[in-house]
Amino acid sequence: MIRIMVVDDERDVESLFRQKFRKEMRDGLIDFHFKFSGEDALEYLDTANAADLVLILSDINMPGITGIELLRILKEKYAHLKVFMITAYDDKEKYEKAIQYGAEEYFIKPIDFEMLKKEIFSIIN
Ligand SMILES: [Mg+2]
Repeated sequence: MIRIMVVDDERDVESLFRQKFRKEMRDGLIDFHFKFSGEDALEYLDTANAADLVLILSDINMPGITGIELLRILKEKYAHLKVFMITAYDDKEKYEKAIQYGAEEYFIKPIDFEMLKKEIFSIIN
């Protein structure tokens, strides 16, 4: 079971992921936990429930703590976590920041879910 936290201020993302990963969730391969701000994500990471998370998928453009700030904090405080960044805009500067701060992957919306699944399963192999 791969435990993943998705952080995105757009709440529709939860139903989209539940639909796209229905089979993987039903088969017990992947478990998603959803947070809708960087602040809530960081709060959750300080709880015991977060101990077995392996991957964070984070939106970049969010009010409050942005995805790039969240990434920087994650790589400082939770260096064992893999982080994939997701953005609605093809923005070279943000891409370079994400790579500089250590993001493992970078996806542009609309997400290619087949590619995302491949990358998710490749981190545990
Ligand atoms: Mg957003």
